[in-house]
Amino acid sequence: MVFLNQFTRLINLRDMKSKSLILLLLSFLIVNVSAQRDFSDSDTTKLVILGSGGGPGPSPFHSGCSLAIIVFDTSYIIDFGTGLVRKAAAMAPTYGGHIKGLEIKNIGYAFLTHMHPDHTLGYPDLLLTPWWAFRREKPLEVYGPHGINQMTDYILKAYGQTDNQESLVNTHEYTEEGIIYQDKYVKVEAFPVLHMPNSWGFRFTTPDKVIVISGDTAPSEKVVEYSRGADLLVHEVYIKKGFDIKLANDEARQLWHKSNHTSAYELGELANRINPELLVLYHIGNWGASEQDLIDEINEKYKGRFIIGQDLDVF
Ligand SMILES: [Zn+2]
Ligand SMILES: [Zn+2]
Repeated sequence: MVFLNQFTRLINLRDMKSKSLILLLLSFLIVNVSAQRDFSDSDTTKLVILGSGGGPGPSPFHSGCSLAIIVFDTSYIIDFGTGLVRKAAAMAPTYGGHIKGLEIKNIGYAFLTHMHPDHTLGYPDLLLTPWWAFRREKPLEVYGPHGINQMTDYILKAYGQTDNQESLVNTHEYTEEGIIYQDKYVKVEAFPVLHMPNSWGFRFTTPDKVIVISGDTAPSEKVVEYSRGADLLVHEVYIKKGFDIKLANDEARQLWHKSNHTSAYELGELANRINPELLVLYHIGNWGASEQDLIDEINEKYKGRFIIGQDLDVF
């Protein structure tokens, strides 16, 4: 209310009617910013965006990129951006949420697309918090590309936990395309994509859904190949309009980005060929452009349904 009083004074609105109107508008804004959205249509399989952040910038509105696929009450984390453990906690019954599979002490499986910091800065948190805060004793099973073994060893060394390695984590480096993990709930296939050397996308097949995650990539025929019959395609994207303005004078960076990421126009074209049930835009590089610019660029080529992913969206 102090804030409201200052605000109304500022714009010289003292009567009660105007004050209530502004209060109404403010509460609408606040509700909109924090509202959780649930687009899911299955009780068996859900996908939760734990962090929708694009690029390495510390956006106060998006946690670092991370997803969770939950089948019944078992969860599978994909990528470890900053904030993922807290966002998972927000959905867990212990903290008032409704997704049992995201109880922090129960998270058992984690998959990494590539080693870039915006995908791994939350890794120490994911390794240590369940054990430290909840006395979890079962090790986390981590599947990552070459480098994950060494990164894990360094993290445990840094925190003086090498003696506890066995109860903390088992790492599995995958090096080849195809099935990298399978249990009674999921089959996980990895496929190489077009990003720094050694970057991968994933296709998760659950009892009732096929979910494809592009990872970071330029437009990739492998994504098309592995997306056949996909219910959900979760794809990275950048907004061309912002990119063209921001990098107008930096040809080298332009070239690097174009060969490592997918513009909204390119994604629209790709998605039109794939024709998933639903396209989810994720890890969005906006380069200062607006959400409307993104929608316009996608719509130029894509005729299907798509949603711009936000933190804690459920699909
Ligand atoms: Zn990234
Ligand atoms: Zn990357």
